[in-house]
Amino acid sequence: MPSESYEIVPSLINGEWLSINKDKYTNVYNPAKGEIISKTPMCGNKELDKAVEAAEKAFVSWSSLPSNNRAQILFNYRSLLKDNLEEIAKIISTENGKTLAEAKGDIQRGFEVVEFACGISQLSKGESLAEVAPNIDATTIREPLGICAGISPFNFPAMVPMWMFPLAIACGNTFILKPSEKVPLTAVKLVKLFEKAGLPKGVLNLIHGGKEIVDGLCTHPKISAISFVGSSIVGHHVYSLASLNGKRVQAGGAAKNALLVMGDAEPDSTLRAIMSSSFGCAGQRCMAGSLLVGVGDVKESLKEKVSGAIDKLIVGDPIKNEKTEMGPVIDSNSQERISKIIEKVEKNGASLINDGRKLIDNEGYFIGPTLFDNVNPDMTVFSEEIFGPVLSILNPKNLTEAIQWLNKLNYGNGATIFTTSGASAKEFTASIKCGMVGINVGVPAPMAMFPFSGWNESFYGDLHMQGSEGVMFYTRQKVILSRWDDSYKDKQGW
Ligand code: NAD
Repeated sequence: MPSESYEIVPSLINGEWLSINKDKYTNVYNPAKGEIISKTPMCGNKELDKAVEAAEKAFVSWSSLPSNNRAQILFNYRSLLKDNLEEIAKIISTENGKTLAEAKGDIQRGFEVVEFACGISQLSKGESLAEVAPNIDATTIREPLGICAGISPFNFPAMVPMWMFPLAIACGNTFILKPSEKVPLTAVKLVKLFEKAGLPKGVLNLIHGGKEIVDGLCTHPKISAISFVGSSIVGHHVYSLASLNGKRVQAGGAAKNALLVMGDAEPDSTLRAIMSSSFGCAGQRCMAGSLLVGVGDVKESLKEKVSGAIDKLIVGDPIKNEKTEMGPVIDSNSQERISKIIEKVEKNGASLINDGRKLIDNEGYFIGPTLFDNVNPDMTVFSEEIFGPVLSILNPKNLTEAIQWLNKLNYGNGATIFTTSGASAKEFTASIKCGMVGINVGVPAPMAMFPFSGWNESFYGDLHMQGSEGVMFYTRQKVILSRWDDSYKDKQGW
């Protein structure tokens, strides 16, 4: 069926929901069925200019509203998100393919940022010091930047946009959100609920598209800051272009995360954590475990256990079957790309233990959980992000060698050690070169009050999303020095 017959995903500009007709669209699929469900208009500079105009106008009154009043709208938003949890989860699951439980987790992580942002008055307090010089007092205040923009990926349709707009808006900025063209329907629902919570028109605008709109956001002279999450190649492009155009940028990129298992690790909880980290969201997480590092003798038994658990994993349509533990990947391109990677890794000498390609002929964009053994740090699969349910086993002789191998990776999101030894945990946390470290935690993604701390090629910029760094990113500091006539000292008899 031609995509023209599907509903156009609406955009929100200046409080008006618009069905924008463009020459180009991207199809939105239900990846579990391979069916088109909607079409995303590829907006351009004309729509961007209108959104910027609306955001600029709204900034005047929004930024001057007391932070407590802004927080009241965030409290309303929090309640609405809670009331609409099931509906949002269904939208996420339908357009992204993750299970309903994973979709609820996706919302929960975003919800926590809203809760964090409700405390904006406390979070954005400045500092002060009396008498920094004779009769001079110093105070710092944090002010909003102006118009901020967010560009998000397909894999967390709720959480990633919510890393961005709730906190930016709580800080007094206005915002333009450009969600992934592959999963725009969750963003529509999230924005509609914020409107319902009482957000004035123009404070949050939603526009859809791809490269043209992203480049437009990065170069527009009236936009002050860009938050980006996606692949490193696009993240680097966004970081370079937007910073060249004088903007503040935070850009999260790709990853290659390791799960390191010591012989003394608690076996059952370790296995559960490995399965969930590597195959949750069909491996499409920037914190997914992708390298399984079985140190010394533990490797063989680990391989047997993981392979056995893979055989039992229920893969399917998450909406049709509530017991589904792993859904499809996002689209046919991803399915084909991952399938080719599996072929290449096997050709390069790794041993294929579980082959996920057997699900390719099913309806939808499925690729089953895949396990490779005998991977070493010289193979491409050691360092490249696959972004699918493929796990590679390595076998260093000891912890020191394992850390040396892992520190060769160019990315730097997450790494976890499974152990009951404090000494091993200490050596690992102190020596590993990445920004988020787990000790017996399969996905060491921090909660909203801590920054999402990617390093190396997993992050471009200085201030990460979430936590106090998020508040710093969306505000700028003013230092005020004040001197007052000191004749009161005489009057008071000082
Ligand atoms: P992507 O880079 O293809 O797309 C991200 C955004 O950039 C989308 O909104 C897209 O429209 C836009 N875009 C795509 N190509 C562009 C181009 N050439 N020029 C300008 N804009 C462009 O990423 P994706 O496939 O949607 O998401 C998966 C990636 O995101 C993975 O690499 C994953 O590791 C990463 N990710 C990182 C984090 C993190 O916090 N570091 C979190 C989630 C996902």
